[in-house]
Amino acid sequence: MLAINEKLYTGDLVQMRKPHPCGGDSWEIVRVGADIGLLCETCGRRVLLPRRKFARGVRKFLRRSPQATKGLGGPG
Ligand SMILES: [Zn+2]
Repeated sequence: MLAINEKLYTGDLVQMRKPHPCGGDSWEIVRVGADIGLLCETCGRRVLLPRRKFARGVRKFLRRSPQATKGLGGPG
């Protein structure tokens, strides 16, 4: 399992272990907080996952947000 201790940013695209009922398995991160907001790329539905549950369910990053590569730190 992927240890996702990395900082998450809105705009990151991730692949989850369990596909959504619609068949899609790629999700865009739309909210980063106590809960992680995910937008299904396939059907456009939004879900909220507690950080811990997200970390268990995520497989890998498909694309990092431009913010993730800047390395500026800062809140979020
Ligand atoms: Zn979906």
